[in-house]
Amino acid sequence: MHFHIVSIFPRLFHSYLADSILKRAQDNGKIQFSFYDPRSVTTNKHKKVDDLPYGGGPGMVMMAEPIIKLWETITQKTFKEKLPFTKKRKFKTILLSPGGETFTTGMAKTLAREYTDIIFICGRYEGVDARVAEVTGAELVSIGDYVLTGGELAAMVMCDSIARQCEGVLGNQASLEEERISSHEMYTRPERFSYRGKEYGVPEVLLSGNHKKIDEWRKTH
Ligand code: SAH
Repeated sequence: MHFHIVSIFPRLFHSYLADSILKRAQDNGKIQFSFYDPRSVTTNKHKKVDDLPYGGGPGMVMMAEPIIKLWETITQKTFKEKLPFTKKRKFKTILLSPGGETFTTGMAKTLAREYTDIIFICGRYEGVDARVAEVTGAELVSIGDYVLTGGELAAMVMCDSIARQCEGVLGNQASLEEERISSHEMYTRPERFSYRGKEYGVPEVLLSGNHKKIDEWRKTH
Protein backbone atom coordinates (compact mmCIF):
# COMPACT_ATOMS: atom_id res chain seq x y z
CA MET A 1 0.00 0.00 0.00
CA HIS A 2 1.36 3.37 -1.01
CA PHE A 3 0.00 6.33 0.98
CA HIS A 4 0.34 9.69 -0.74
CA ILE A 5 -0.10 12.67 1.56
CA VAL A 6 -0.89 16.13 0.23
CA SER A 7 -0.22 18.57 3.06
CA ILE A 8 1.39 21.95 3.68
CA PHE A 9 2.78 20.51 6.96
CA PRO A 10 4.40 17.18 6.00
CA ARG A 11 6.72 17.29 9.03
CA LEU A 12 3.73 16.62 11.29
CA PHE A 13 3.81 13.00 10.10
CA HIS A 14 7.46 12.23 10.67
CA SER A 15 7.66 11.31 14.35
CA TYR A 16 4.61 9.06 14.28
CA LEU A 17 5.87 7.17 11.23
CA ALA A 18 9.40 6.81 12.61
CA ASP A 19 8.57 4.30 15.34
CA SER A 20 6.92 0.99 16.12
CA ILE A 21 4.72 -0.99 13.74
CA LEU A 22 4.41 1.62 11.01
CA LYS A 23 8.19 2.05 10.96
CA ARG A 24 8.75 -1.69 10.64
CA ALA A 25 6.11 -2.01 7.94
CA GLN A 26 7.89 0.67 5.90
CA ASP A 27 11.29 -1.00 6.44
CA ASN A 28 9.80 -4.29 5.26
CA GLY A 29 8.27 -2.71 2.17
CA LYS A 30 4.68 -3.46 3.21
CA ILE A 31 3.66 0.19 3.19
CA GLN A 32 5.17 3.34 1.76
CA PHE A 33 4.58 7.06 2.38
CA SER A 34 5.17 9.97 0.02
CA PHE A 35 4.57 13.64 0.77
CA TYR A 36 3.58 16.49 -1.50
CA ASP A 37 3.47 20.10 -0.36
CA PRO A 38 1.08 22.44 -2.25
CA ARG A 39 3.51 25.29 -1.54
CA SER A 40 6.09 23.59 -3.77
CA VAL A 41 3.94 24.05 -6.88
CA THR A 42 2.52 27.52 -6.34
CA THR A 43 3.15 30.00 -9.14
CA ASN A 44 2.82 33.19 -7.09
CA LYS A 45 5.78 34.94 -5.47
CA HIS A 46 4.77 34.43 -1.86
CA LYS A 47 3.93 30.73 -2.18
CA LYS A 48 0.38 31.49 -1.19
CA VAL A 49 -1.87 28.43 -1.03
CA ASP A 50 -5.01 30.04 0.40
CA ASP A 51 -7.32 32.93 -0.35
CA LEU A 52 -10.48 34.65 0.90
CA PRO A 53 -13.77 32.73 0.70
CA TYR A 54 -16.29 33.73 -1.97
CA GLY A 55 -19.48 34.91 -0.33
CA GLY A 56 -17.54 36.31 2.58
CA GLY A 57 -17.08 34.94 6.07
CA PRO A 58 -14.12 34.34 8.34
CA GLY A 59 -10.84 32.61 7.54
CA MET A 60 -9.18 31.42 4.39
CA VAL A 61 -9.80 28.64 1.89
CA MET A 62 -7.12 26.44 0.31
CA MET A 63 -6.89 27.08 -3.40
CA ALA A 64 -7.72 24.31 -5.84
CA GLU A 65 -4.94 24.68 -8.37
CA PRO A 66 -1.82 23.63 -6.41
CA ILE A 67 -3.63 20.61 -4.93
CA ILE A 68 -4.96 19.47 -8.30
CA LYS A 69 -1.52 19.90 -9.85
CA LEU A 70 -0.03 17.59 -7.22
CA TRP A 71 -2.85 15.10 -7.57
CA GLU A 72 -2.19 14.92 -11.30
CA THR A 73 1.53 14.37 -10.75
CA ILE A 74 0.89 11.63 -8.22
CA THR A 75 -1.54 9.69 -10.35
CA GLN A 76 0.41 10.02 -13.61
CA LYS A 77 3.85 9.32 -12.17
CA THR A 78 2.77 6.46 -9.96
CA PHE A 79 0.74 4.78 -12.67
CA LYS A 80 3.93 4.35 -14.65
CA GLU A 81 5.82 2.69 -11.79
CA LYS A 82 5.59 -1.07 -11.89
CA LEU A 83 4.42 -3.06 -8.92
CA PRO A 84 6.62 -6.05 -7.99
CA PHE A 85 3.72 -8.43 -8.66
CA THR A 86 0.98 -8.71 -11.21
CA LYS A 87 -1.44 -6.46 -9.38
CA LYS A 88 -2.60 -3.35 -11.24
CA ARG A 89 -2.44 0.02 -9.53
CA LYS A 90 -5.72 1.21 -8.13
CA PHE A 91 -6.06 4.73 -6.80
CA LYS A 92 -8.41 6.19 -4.24
CA THR A 93 -8.51 9.88 -3.35
CA ILE A 94 -9.72 10.98 0.06
CA LEU A 95 -10.37 14.55 1.11
CA LEU A 96 -10.36 14.89 4.88
CA SER A 97 -13.41 16.86 5.89
CA PRO A 98 -15.42 17.13 9.14
CA GLY A 99 -18.56 16.97 6.98
CA GLY A 100 -17.63 13.70 5.26
CA GLU A 101 -18.67 10.12 5.84
CA THR A 102 -17.42 8.82 9.20
CA PHE A 103 -14.39 6.53 9.04
CA THR A 104 -14.79 2.98 10.37
CA THR A 105 -12.79 -0.27 10.56
CA GLY A 106 -15.05 -1.58 7.80
CA MET A 107 -13.92 1.27 5.55
CA ALA A 108 -10.27 0.58 6.46
CA LYS A 109 -10.66 -3.07 5.44
CA THR A 110 -12.26 -2.21 2.10
CA LEU A 111 -9.60 0.40 1.31
CA ALA A 112 -6.77 -2.01 2.20
CA ARG A 113 -8.27 -4.75 0.06
CA GLU A 114 -9.27 -2.76 -3.01
CA TYR A 115 -6.55 -0.17 -3.54
CA THR A 116 -2.78 -0.05 -4.05
CA ASP A 117 -2.50 3.74 -3.67
CA ILE A 118 -4.45 6.13 -1.47
CA ILE A 119 -4.11 9.89 -1.82
CA PHE A 120 -5.01 11.95 1.26
CA ILE A 121 -5.72 15.63 0.81
CA CYS A 122 -5.30 17.44 4.11
CA GLY A 123 -7.18 20.69 4.54
CA ARG A 124 -6.14 23.61 6.72
CA TYR A 125 -7.80 26.93 7.60
CA GLU A 126 -11.54 26.85 6.73
CA GLY A 127 -11.04 23.93 4.35
CA VAL A 128 -10.39 23.22 0.68
CA ASP A 129 -12.01 24.75 -2.43
CA ALA A 130 -14.88 22.39 -3.32
CA ARG A 131 -13.66 22.07 -6.92
CA VAL A 132 -10.79 19.84 -5.70
CA ALA A 133 -13.27 17.09 -4.87
CA GLU A 134 -15.15 17.75 -8.10
CA VAL A 135 -12.06 17.34 -10.28
CA THR A 136 -10.36 14.48 -8.41
CA GLY A 137 -13.49 12.52 -7.55
CA ALA A 138 -12.29 12.45 -3.95
CA GLU A 139 -14.42 10.90 -1.26
CA LEU A 140 -15.00 13.17 1.75
CA VAL A 141 -14.15 11.41 4.99
CA SER A 142 -14.37 12.54 8.62
CA ILE A 143 -12.69 10.71 11.50
CA GLY A 144 -15.31 11.77 14.00
CA ASP A 145 -17.80 14.33 15.13
CA TYR A 146 -15.37 17.07 16.15
CA VAL A 147 -13.40 19.70 14.27
CA LEU A 148 -9.60 19.64 14.07
CA THR A 149 -7.27 22.43 12.97
CA GLY A 150 -6.16 20.39 9.95
CA GLY A 151 -6.54 17.14 8.06
CA GLU A 152 -3.09 15.80 9.01
CA LEU A 153 -4.09 14.03 12.24
CA ALA A 154 -7.15 12.62 10.49
CA ALA A 155 -5.00 11.28 7.64
CA MET A 156 -2.63 9.70 10.15
CA VAL A 157 -5.47 8.02 11.99
CA MET A 158 -6.73 6.58 8.72
CA CYS A 159 -3.26 5.46 7.56
CA ASP A 160 -2.63 3.73 10.88
CA SER A 161 -5.92 1.89 10.78
CA ILE A 162 -5.66 0.95 7.07
CA ALA A 163 -2.02 -0.15 7.46
CA ARG A 164 -2.88 -2.71 10.14
CA GLN A 165 -5.34 -4.24 7.68
CA CYS A 166 -2.59 -4.68 5.07
CA GLU A 167 -1.02 -8.10 4.81
CA GLY A 168 2.17 -8.57 6.80
CA VAL A 169 1.97 -5.32 8.72
CA LEU A 170 1.08 -6.80 12.09
CA GLY A 171 3.94 -9.29 11.66
CA ASN A 172 3.69 -12.43 13.74
CA GLN A 173 0.32 -11.43 15.09
CA ALA A 174 -1.30 -14.05 12.90
CA SER A 175 -4.79 -12.65 12.75
CA LEU A 176 -6.34 -9.30 13.44
CA GLU A 177 -7.90 -8.66 16.79
CA GLU A 178 -11.32 -7.93 15.32
CA GLU A 179 -11.51 -11.44 13.91
CA ARG A 180 -10.39 -13.25 17.03
CA ILE A 181 -12.65 -13.77 19.98
CA SER A 182 -11.43 -10.62 21.55
CA SER A 183 -12.16 -8.51 24.56
CA HIS A 184 -11.37 -4.88 25.18
CA GLU A 185 -10.80 -5.75 28.82
CA MET A 186 -7.28 -7.12 29.19
CA TYR A 187 -4.89 -7.98 32.01
CA THR A 188 -1.20 -8.76 32.36
CA ARG A 189 1.18 -9.37 35.26
CA PRO A 190 1.13 -8.93 38.20
CA GLU A 191 -1.84 -11.03 39.22
CA ARG A 192 -2.52 -8.84 42.24
CA PHE A 193 -1.91 -5.13 41.97
CA SER A 194 -2.21 -2.83 44.99
CA TYR A 195 -2.90 0.85 44.88
CA ARG A 196 -3.43 2.99 47.99
CA GLY A 197 -4.21 0.06 50.19
CA LYS A 198 -6.66 -1.58 47.83
CA GLU A 199 -5.98 -4.80 45.97
CA TYR A 200 -6.94 -5.17 42.33
CA GLY A 201 -7.10 -8.72 41.00
CA VAL A 202 -7.60 -10.44 37.66
CA PRO A 203 -10.94 -12.15 36.81
CA GLU A 204 -10.70 -15.78 38.02
CA VAL A 205 -11.76 -17.19 34.68
CA LEU A 206 -8.64 -15.82 32.96
CA LEU A 207 -6.47 -17.75 35.43
CA SER A 208 -8.49 -20.96 35.12
CA GLY A 209 -6.79 -22.37 32.02
CA ASN A 210 -10.26 -23.37 30.76
CA HIS A 211 -10.15 -22.04 27.18
CA LYS A 212 -13.80 -22.64 26.48
CA LYS A 213 -14.79 -20.56 29.50
CA ILE A 214 -12.17 -17.91 28.67
CA ASP A 215 -13.58 -17.54 25.13
CA GLU A 216 -17.08 -17.20 26.53
CA TRP A 217 -15.95 -14.52 28.98
CA ARG A 218 -14.12 -12.65 26.19
CA LYS A 219 -17.23 -12.51 24.05
CA THR A 220 -19.02 -10.55 26.73
CA HIS A 221 -16.24 -8.25 28.01
N1 SAH B 1 -14.99 25.32 8.70
C1 SAH B 1 -14.62 24.04 8.25
C2 SAH B 1 -13.66 23.42 9.22
C3 SAH B 1 -12.32 23.30 8.66
S1 SAH B 1 -11.22 22.45 9.70
C4 SAH B 1 -15.85 23.15 8.11
O1 SAH B 1 -16.79 23.34 8.85
O2 SAH B 1 -15.81 22.23 7.29
C5 SAH B 1 -9.81 22.45 8.70
C6 SAH B 1 -9.44 21.14 8.04
O3 SAH B 1 -9.23 20.18 9.04
C7 SAH B 1 -10.51 20.55 7.14
O4 SAH B 1 -10.40 21.03 5.82
C8 SAH B 1 -10.19 19.06 7.20
O5 SAH B 1 -9.21 18.68 6.26
C9 SAH B 1 -9.60 18.90 8.60
N2 SAH B 1 -10.54 18.32 9.59
C10 SAH B 1 -11.08 18.95 10.66
N3 SAH B 1 -11.86 18.14 11.38
C11 SAH B 1 -11.83 16.93 10.76
C12 SAH B 1 -12.44 15.68 11.02
N4 SAH B 1 -13.24 15.48 12.07
N5 SAH B 1 -12.17 14.66 10.18
C13 SAH B 1 -11.38 14.84 9.10
N6 SAH B 1 -10.77 16.01 8.82
C14 SAH B 1 -10.98 17.05 9.63
